Amino acid sequence: MAAPDDDAIPDRLRELGIHRVSLPAANEMGRVNAWIVDDDPLVLVDAGIGDDGAIDALEAAFRAVGRRVEDLGLLLLTHQHTDHLGLAGEIVRRSGAELAGLAPLGPYLADFPAEAAADRAYMAELLRRHGADEAAVSGNEEGWARFHAAGGSARVTVPLVAGSTIALRDRTLELLHRPGHSETDVLFVDAAARAMFGGDHLLRATPSVSMRDRPLPAGDGARAPDPSEDDVAVTIRYRESLRATAPLPVDLVLPGHGGAFRDPAEVVEHHLAKQDRDAAGLLARAGDAPFTAGGLAASVWPQAPASLAHVLLSTVLGSLGVLRAAGQVEVVDAPAGGPVRFSARARARG
Ligand SMILES: [Zn+2]
Repeated sequence: MAAPDDDAIPDRLRELGIHRVSLPAANEMGRVNAWIVDDDPLVLVDAGIGDDGAIDALEAAFRAVGRRVEDLGLLLLTHQHTDHLGLAGEIVRRSGAELAGLAPLGPYLADFPAEAAADRAYMAELLRRHGADEAAVSGNEEGWARFHAAGGSARVTVPLVAGSTIALRDRTLELLHRPGHSETDVLFVDAAARAMFGGDHLLRATPSVSMRDRPLPAGDGARAPDPSEDDVAVTIRYRESLRATAPLPVDLVLPGHGGAFRDPAEVVEHHLAKQDRDAAGLLARAGDAPFTAGGLAASVWPQAPASLAHVLLSTVLGSLGVLRAAGQVEVVDAPAGGPVRFSARARARG
């Protein structure tokens, strides 16, 4: 059976009572989606960020479909990143809506300023461990402090786990956990409609960066963090999650950024291939001498603003994880105070 083509997407969204709201987000993504689901209760998937104009844009979007923010009954969160939950507290205050998200988001949002400060301290430690210079560390801190200032605390009233279902009048959403871009990435799947809210797990244009975030308390399956392992495991986890998503019987993806699209399996295949190409490109740049991930990031993106240091380091660590899993890169030195040094494995001759 052929999937319906992209021209049919607006009709399907209308039939399903789903409306995309594109909100401003002052980060490298530029815009972020929230999705209004016209059901009972009225649902919003993701909350945007408290940037200038965002709450006005959200109010206008509700008005355009004959509703108000005050009518909202349930706010669902796709993951822990501030551009997706910054306005959660404000939206809940205005509407009295229930707030639902993966369980670790509860303590994370309970005191957001303190948790975000801990995130930034973790990023600084990670950057230093991987040989980034102090200008990158302080520029990253300043950029993220600005970004985090557009978020706020909120009380998660409905903590969710993998397999949780959310029953609405016209549909049932099932939560699938898809760690990799962040540890708290989830899908909300409407099996009957063959549709899913994908958060940042599956954007159409490009694979998301596997962000090396501070581990949040994970509950079941929590284990002691192991930096030398975990730092380079991020993209491996993301790839496992992408492979788990590919066979889902879904032909409408409602992502965290950009427009809706229809073929998750095809997009996953593209993304895995792109990650392989990126890793091969990085290996070619690395040369034969030992290197740090931070040094390699600075050599690949010499003009990048320091505020992106953590994003770019996460990108490099992700590729190094792919290369290490393929036996092409190894850790040669990981002293307690850092920096961690990598080396390309001697290439086969002949
Ligand atoms: Zn994200």
